[in-house]
Amino acid sequence: MNTKKLAAKDRKYLWHPFTQMCDWQKDKAPVIEKGDGCYLIDTRGKRYLDGVSSLWCNVHGHRVKEIDRAVQEQLGKIAHSTFLGLTHPSGIQLAEKLISIAPRGLSRVFYSDSGSEAVEIAVKMAYQYWLQRGKPQKKKFVKLTNAYHGDTIGSVSVGGIDLFHQVYKPLLFKTLVVPSPYRYRWPTGSDLERVKEESLKAMEDVFRKHHKEIAAFVMEPLMQGAAGMIDQPKGFIYRARQLTKKYNVLLIFDEVATGFGRTGKMFAAEHEQVTPDLMAVAKGITGGYLPLAATLTTEEVYDAFLGKCDEFKTFFHGHTYTANPLACAAATASLKLFKEKSVLEELQPKIGLLRESLQDFYKLKHVGDIRQVGTMIGIELVRERKTKKLFKVKEKIGVRVIERARKKGAILRPLGSVIVLMPPLAMNKKELRDLLNITYESIEEVTEKSS
Ligand code: PLP
Repeated sequence: MNTKKLAAKDRKYLWHPFTQMCDWQKDKAPVIEKGDGCYLIDTRGKRYLDGVSSLWCNVHGHRVKEIDRAVQEQLGKIAHSTFLGLTHPSGIQLAEKLISIAPRGLSRVFYSDSGSEAVEIAVKMAYQYWLQRGKPQKKKFVKLTNAYHGDTIGSVSVGGIDLFHQVYKPLLFKTLVVPSPYRYRWPTGSDLERVKEESLKAMEDVFRKHHKEIAAFVMEPLMQGAAGMIDQPKGFIYRARQLTKKYNVLLIFDEVATGFGRTGKMFAAEHEQVTPDLMAVAKGITGGYLPLAATLTTEEVYDAFLGKCDEFKTFFHGHTYTANPLACAAATASLKLFKEKSVLEELQPKIGLLRESLQDFYKLKHVGDIRQVGTMIGIELVRERKTKKLFKVKEKIGVRVIERARKKGAILRPLGSVIVLMPPLAMNKKELRDLLNITYESIEEVTEKSS
């Protein structure tokens, strides 16, 4: 079927995620048919750099022969069988591998299908843990402002992005909120230490006052992704761990975006040698091949769910495709590649290249702030640098920049007026330079013309 026909049928039958479909009707988004390394290829044969890792999940590029082969081998055995009442080698092997690379102390793997579900599971586990430890009053959750943990009702409840939160508010459970250390827009100034201490003080105040009724504190460690790539000051997650311990509150790390090398280490938690009580992972777990997620936890949490069948301590959760064997096989192959190709070692100079090159972007007068943790990057565009005044929503500044980038051969996706770059870990230096050039030119052409 040719491109025009495909596009017409798409407009006729589909409803796309997080998309205003009125705009989509007019959008000339390419129809992606193939992948090749770090490129996406549309039905007309045009190649685009995959600048956001196909929504933050691709790791080694597309059509990686080792992962292709692992999935094909698994297909030769079975595509799917249930994890409820049965098990399979693919899920077992991956669990062992995950525990071997996870922060020390995490010892159990509970599979699911998406990042949202992995967080939802962590929330349910934390609640039920206290119930079964004889503390049913501990059922509140603490979150950071600007947090994003997914789009299901539980994960939206512990999220803090007004845009997503507001509409569904009547459906959500109540939470306690701590201001996230958003240095660039912190009310009392941008001094990092001060931002950190004030945010941590607010956290401790909440814990001190409410700890008897708090089940857990949920956070994205090091970098709040969907909020617009908001990085946290050094020592923040370490101190959050100290405070949660002090006040007997479980700590949930959402490593859905930060996990699997994105921050320069396998998990963000490693940067400050922190072990959370529960950790949600997804996205990059399969190298970006297939939907799979997991919630990792400790023996301490797991033990609280053990009992006789009529005690009803079971964790009542599980979906049809939990631990899909094809997805588990892809994940194991991806993790093997980390070692075989020394992915994290190879990544360090590329992170350096990104850091250095990004400084040039400050030459653009509408670039207000640039935030980077490893290969996670946010470039915040502002109407006026001095006042940090934002562009109006209807100016669609981010969308216009990424449309320009698309013409130039890179796929990006903005978060409001923040331009996000999150290349696959495998993107080479030449491709990274091309991606940076395209992004620079696109911002320059769109913002300096529109001001
Ligand atoms: N948590 C974080 C930190 C995320 O960035 C995302 C998605 O972007 C999610 C959870 C939700 O993951 P999924 O889209 O796989 O449900």
